[in-house]
Amino acid sequence: MSYDFDLITIGGGSGGIATTNRAASYGARCLIIERDPYMGGTCVNVGCVPKKAMWYGASMAHALRDATGYGFDVQVGSFDWAAFVAKRQNYISNINKFYDSSFAKNGVETRHGEARFIDKNTIRVGDEQISAERILIAVGGTPTLPDIPGAEHAITSDGFFALKQQPRKVMVLGAGYIAVELAGMLQALGTDVTLGIRKDRFLRDFDEPVSDQLFGAMQADGVTIETGFTASAVEKTGESLSVIAESGTRLDGFDEVIFAIGRTPLTPPLDLSKAGVNTNKRGYIPVDKYQETNVKGVFAVGDVIGEAELTPVAIAAGRRLADRLYNGQTDRHLKYENIATVVFSHPPIGTIGLTEKEAMAEYGDSVKVYESSFNPMYMAFTDHKVKTTMRLIVEGEDEKIVGCHLIGRDADEMMQGFAVAISMGATKKQFDDTVAIHPTSGEELVTMR
Ligand SMILES: Cc1cc2nc3c(=O)[nH]c(=O)nc-3n(C[C@H](O)[C@H](O)[C@H](O)COP(=O)(O)OP(=O)(O)OC[C@H]3O[C@@H](n4cnc5c(N)ncnc54)[C@H](O)[C@@H]3O)c2cc1C
Repeated sequence: MSYDFDLITIGGGSGGIATTNRAASYGARCLIIERDPYMGGTCVNVGCVPKKAMWYGASMAHALRDATGYGFDVQVGSFDWAAFVAKRQNYISNINKFYDSSFAKNGVETRHGEARFIDKNTIRVGDEQISAERILIAVGGTPTLPDIPGAEHAITSDGFFALKQQPRKVMVLGAGYIAVELAGMLQALGTDVTLGIRKDRFLRDFDEPVSDQLFGAMQADGVTIETGFTASAVEKTGESLSVIAESGTRLDGFDEVIFAIGRTPLTPPLDLSKAGVNTNKRGYIPVDKYQETNVKGVFAVGDVIGEAELTPVAIAAGRRLADRLYNGQTDRHLKYENIATVVFSHPPIGTIGLTEKEAMAEYGDSVKVYESSFNPMYMAFTDHKVKTTMRLIVEGEDEKIVGCHLIGRDADEMMQGFAVAISMGATKKQFDDTVAIHPTSGEELVTMR
């Protein structure tokens, strides 16, 4: 049987691009289909990249606040949201162009339009019907709006990145990392922020002392946190929005209401039943350890499989898949464990491995926790003090490090190097045997007692 391509990828985001370019570099004939007019997907266009740009802007606001402590007579004027957003979008469009040129260089064909299955080897996009020996589904997800009255007046993270001017007063709803990040950035940039969370804590999957410390730090930065707050309606009066909670609490006067309550996989428009591909109850596509769906020759990577929804995970899974399919690396696959991640809050959180609670559940009494909490040297000169906390969760007689959780200045940049050591199975003694770099915050991790 002859096909138009060796591989068709549906979705030009992190996972799709990485897999396709890698496959093409081995000589596979590849086509990638993206429904948006530009490549890059969530991370580049409405995720990690614009988020990190805003986080840098917010960090600049924190630095300006701290500057007086260092002897500067700083008069902070206003923040030009529109000018900064224009620069951010220009940066993003350069990344979009880079992807186009990477496809041209690797000989990857592209189409723009919504793809759907005709059968397990055939895809329709626009008026075209195109076949391939293998098909990769990398369609990611979209932010979820709740099914409550007035939800249409609210926006999601996509809407946040589309804001052309700075909102004066915002309510963010959600307890995950995106909610916390958006709330922190807006507050730092001068917006009055209320964060509404359903339970009494946010980042509930994170190591508790670390997420609790962030809770306090955000309150100290001026974010109002409403706990036990489940939105049941959004109302619009003129230009002003109100949010009503199930408890009856009513909060008024917002310019924007942002729901960051999770994401929904973009599987329904794919007509997966035509190919016989299964989804689970939440619409995600289950795959085996080689990223293969229940249908031979149809694969899925990235957010659409509903596991560790992060860009480097989508990329790593996709590249390993291409290595296996087109470069003879027969057992190559991604192990979904020890995945380090960062919350771009103020201060940031860096985390890898098991939380204390998870480690206790898995290993019981053989777990020990090392913790260090201190004011980093930077804070010695600032009026506003933000503490750093580092926690190492170790297990067994050799004190293997099974979790590492950091919150504090530079935790975001510290995490990556420690993640290498921890994913190689480092023990506490090996950390102790590492000569410290002084004066840094990172040295605390190799000098803990
Ligand atoms: C606000 C926010 C912040 C984030 N921050 C981070 C971060 O700091 N670090 C991190 O690692 N991750 C972060 N993420 C997560 C990260 O963006 C995702 O994990 C990553 O983009 C997943 O890649 P993907 O390839 O699976 O899907 P996506 O990047 O979502 O790409 C899927 C692509 O498929 C296209 N598509 C969908 N359906 C079709 C169809 N039928 N036909 C054709 N094309 C289709 C979509 O338009 C999209 O371009 C963030 C996400 C958000 C929303």
